[in-house]
Amino acid sequence: MAKQKTLHEKLTELTSNLWWSWQPEVGEIFRSIDPLRWSKLAHNPVILLQEFPPEKLERRAMEMGLNTRINWAYRRWVRYMESTDAWGARHAGVLGQRPAAYFSAEFGLHESLPIYSGGLGVLSGDHLKSASDLGVPLVGVGLFYDEGYFNQYIDDNGWQQESYTELNVDDLPVRPALDPEGKPVVISVATRGGDIHARVWRVDVGRVKLFLLDADIEQNKDEDRQLTARLYGGDQRTRIRQEIMLGIGGVRALEAIGIQPGMFHMNEGHSAFAGLEVIRRRITEDELGFDEALRETAAMCVFTTHTPVPAGHDRFDADLVEEHLGPLRDELGLSHDALLGLGRVEPQNMHESFCMTVLAFKLSRQANAVSSLHGVVSRRMWANLWPWRSEEEIPIGHITNGVHVPTWLAGQMRLLYDRVLPDHWYLNSGQPEVWADFESVSPGELWETHQLLKTRLIDYSRRKLVAQAERRKESPEQIEKMRASLDPQILTIGFARRFAPYKRSDLFMRDLDLLADLIGDEERPIQFIFAGKAHPADDNGKAIVQRIHQLSQDERFRGRVVLLENYDINLGRHLVQGVDVWLNNPRRPLEASGTSGQKVVLNGGLNCSILDGWWAEAYDGSNGFAIGTGRTHVNQEIQDQRDADSLMKVLTEEVVPLYYRRDVDDLPQEWIKRMKRAVRTLGWRFNADRMVMDYVLETYIGASGGLSCDMDLH
Ligand SMILES: *Cc1c(COP(=O)(O)O)cnc(C)c1O
Repeated sequence: MAKQKTLHEKLTELTSNLWWSWQPEVGEIFRSIDPLRWSKLAHNPVILLQEFPPEKLERRAMEMGLNTRINWAYRRWVRYMESTDAWGARHAGVLGQRPAAYFSAEFGLHESLPIYSGGLGVLSGDHLKSASDLGVPLVGVGLFYDEGYFNQYIDDNGWQQESYTELNVDDLPVRPALDPEGKPVVISVATRGGDIHARVWRVDVGRVKLFLLDADIEQNKDEDRQLTARLYGGDQRTRIRQEIMLGIGGVRALEAIGIQPGMFHMNEGHSAFAGLEVIRRRITEDELGFDEALRETAAMCVFTTHTPVPAGHDRFDADLVEEHLGPLRDELGLSHDALLGLGRVEPQNMHESFCMTVLAFKLSRQANAVSSLHGVVSRRMWANLWPWRSEEEIPIGHITNGVHVPTWLAGQMRLLYDRVLPDHWYLNSGQPEVWADFESVSPGELWETHQLLKTRLIDYSRRKLVAQAERRKESPEQIEKMRASLDPQILTIGFARRFAPYKRSDLFMRDLDLLADLIGDEERPIQFIFAGKAHPADDNGKAIVQRIHQLSQDERFRGRVVLLENYDINLGRHLVQGVDVWLNNPRRPLEASGTSGQKVVLNGGLNCSILDGWWAEAYDGSNGFAIGTGRTHVNQEIQDQRDADSLMKVLTEEVVPLYYRRDVDDLPQEWIKRMKRAVRTLGWRFNADRMVMDYVLETYIGASGGLSCDMDLH
């Protein structure tokens, strides 16, 4: 009989795969081992375990009575990894031998692996987790950023400052990717200025493997060792070099590891060079001509576009393209102009720069936007690529984004779901029937669970605010005040997102007197919790951070408007699990989807949002609140003012009265009805399992079967 594994061995295995990160009970085990260290270490179990060698761990497990919990978690993990009857086995069999390859510039999986900046990364992370849960054969490809995205803090003047910390792979669930002979993989990409090399790391995400390219190796020139240091850092030249590593290097890495993808999913245009590398291989290995190789490659590629904001689409000048794609171009047998033409709407137009989104369209069989409204906007935006088609016939569909339920659903709320939903509901959470029983949950129980999570958010916020005030060396009185900021009995509105201009984070500040009245109301006050990072190069975004910071220091608003630093997955989890209302007021129609509001739904919070992105198709009149009616205006100032007025109106006339209307047991019955309705009508739809199932059925299967496509661009 095989020797029993020790507790230490079992926990070590659990930390080597990110599966633990979407099992609240396993996180709880790590926390119980040493709560203080756990929070100090930003929830990194690899380091925690390094601090607890076997004997010390056994002792600690004994003291805390953890043995049974560890054994149970370990058995569940083994069963998860071995199970063969998931959805994918029945519906994605065609990918069995040749998996889907999912390319993305960032992956947000957990706060302890900070290689993401925001929504796109978290979406990619959720995609991998759902693919794993569903048993869809898929591998991820991305970049390993040694310094990750920046840490944010706000100085005495309210100005955002950035700092970077170097990641150490020994402290992360990251190991070298190996070739079939067991040797670490290193790949190279030639440019006119010399070769760039990268090693490849492997991260296990449940049953899915994620491969990350890292240019910080000795073979590279010093300049290139920095290439993948930071996410979205550097200039256009850094950007195109990162993108050749991701796209071209990514395809080569899979080849070297011995994985033959059955299809490619380019999540955003950053990875579109992957298609060119696949074409090159068809030309050199199968002796196809360029046109034929392009057609066959496009037949196995699908593309997701993520934003209508022009700055979100990479564009490169001709000389940068030639410097970095020149050697590949030679192998493709293309002229300089022919290559540039692949990145242009009008191939012959010398004034058009080379656009990665255009390249991605031209190298795919199928393209999709990320919400229904974004589909409409994208078809209009890219109509010139298909001048022979009418707008409705532009071949860009949509698959609306969703969030990974086990990642974003609070442990306490999950216990409630377990009681009212059918057994094993989480294995079928993308199906509407599974959620119907949520109506039967008792109002008191739902409200208490929500209040518990809200209290936890407020405790967490206070601790953070005190630490922020101490770091800024504020006076003892000010620090004391921070300890008492926020109140669990007050209607709490959360707002956290990147401080990109179109998100209009300061829209609520347009009429400060009205805001002060709302916040300071004797009987029905409200309070706001803000968080978010501005891009390091975006001074306008930083100015908005500063205005909100200043407001939070103003006597009229102190303790009722707070700004939490360093928005990341951990802070996001606390916020979406604890707020009463999630506010979102982008300038329609610029929010392609948005996903943070979907995380709030699962935990019983209500959305109050402009009818943009996912909310435009989610709101039904009684599952949250709408700001305005979805009208837009050519004059931005008019649109902003009108939306600001609508925001104040909905808060005053709908949100506040509904929240404070209580029955004899102090329960807001009508509000709770909305919470239930939101969970039941939205939980299954805006869910990453549903999203991945749609991708598989509507795009992956066709792409891996090489069925003909209808883009008519090739
Ligand atoms: C979910 C999430 C986002 C996405 O937010 P949206 O503004 O709704 O797109 C960004 N950052 C983090 C840390 C998240 O968890």
